Amino acid sequence: MNATPPFKRLALIGFGLIGGSIARAARAQGLAGDIVITARSAQTRARVAELGIVDRVVETNAAAVQDADLVILCIPVGACGAVAQEIAPHLKPGVIVSDVGSVKGAIVRDMAPHLPKDVHFVPAHPVAGTEHSGPDSGFPELFINRWCILTPPEGTDPDAVERLRAFWAALGAKVELMTADHHDRVLAITSHLPHLIAYTIVGTADELAQVTSSEVINFSAGGFRDFTRIAASDPTMWRDVFLANKEAVLEMLGTFNEDLSKLTRAIRRGDGEALFEHFTRTRAIRRGIVDIGQDSAAPDFGRPHAQLAQRPD
Ligand code: NAP
Repeated sequence: MNATPPFKRLALIGFGLIGGSIARAARAQGLAGDIVITARSAQTRARVAELGIVDRVVETNAAAVQDADLVILCIPVGACGAVAQEIAPHLKPGVIVSDVGSVKGAIVRDMAPHLPKDVHFVPAHPVAGTEHSGPDSGFPELFINRWCILTPPEGTDPDAVERLRAFWAALGAKVELMTADHHDRVLAITSHLPHLIAYTIVGTADELAQVTSSEVINFSAGGFRDFTRIAASDPTMWRDVFLANKEAVLEMLGTFNEDLSKLTRAIRRGDGEALFEHFTRTRAIRRGIVDIGQDSAAPDFGRPHAQLAQRPD
């Protein structure tokens, strides 16, 4: 526990998976003297008050940022511009304003013009999540050993960047700095495209007339099941991600379609060598992810498996 918290007051706007996880971890680590939150709906605000994780739940964004030293927007990307405009007149000089949006170029474009010159704007993206959302979905360990990418615009005060870096490091994250543009291209291939593929394949299976839906569900362990987890992610968040990162996603999608055509051709021609070579290369990528501790090495993602009943002697 910190004797003197690095931030006197932390304000979180939005309390879902990410906001709720930040609040829980920041409290556990003693990173703020006071944690104030607000959320859009009265229902979420009431639930957060009931959970008793934060010091104060307030009704408006303006009230939340009052006197805060660190303000983090934990809301969908498409809502950040309007909220920045709303809070701007209520921000204390010297406050650090950040966010957690999965796209960064659009965040800078939408938020920066509204923020006063005497506040430090340091956009951030914790690359950590689950398919769950809402005030009960957060947990303090979410960011441990996961990356958090900061994309400070050119000329941002280095002290403010360092304070936010230390905040995320204290939540357990490994922190990296890059430009917003670079972030959006990297995330387009590592996160946005995989989500688009999962949304597509689950939708396609659902529409297949010749495979009954009960067969899709019964035989899902053949691979489909792993796509359904990703395709269960929050529709509002992902709608905003694709609208906000249009260019980079379309570019990666073009490359993906070319590669898919190559594999389609290999299947059509019965080119086993091409398929084998490709699958060997991708297997090595999976091993690399496990080796650097970004996923479990346990078979089947460590899912529990039922035991066979003992045969009577
Ligand atoms: P979430 O669990 O659905 O929570 C979203 C929060 O935003 C809720 O408090 C919600 O309020 C509020 N909200 C929704 N629409 C709003 C609007 N138009 N104006 C103001 N507030 C609004 O979402 P989340 O997963 O925490 O995602 C929040 C942000 O984190 C997104 O920008 C997302 O890109 C980013 N992110 C998500 C993940 C992930 O895996 N989920 C990972 C990294 C980053 P109510 O509860 O009152 O509706």
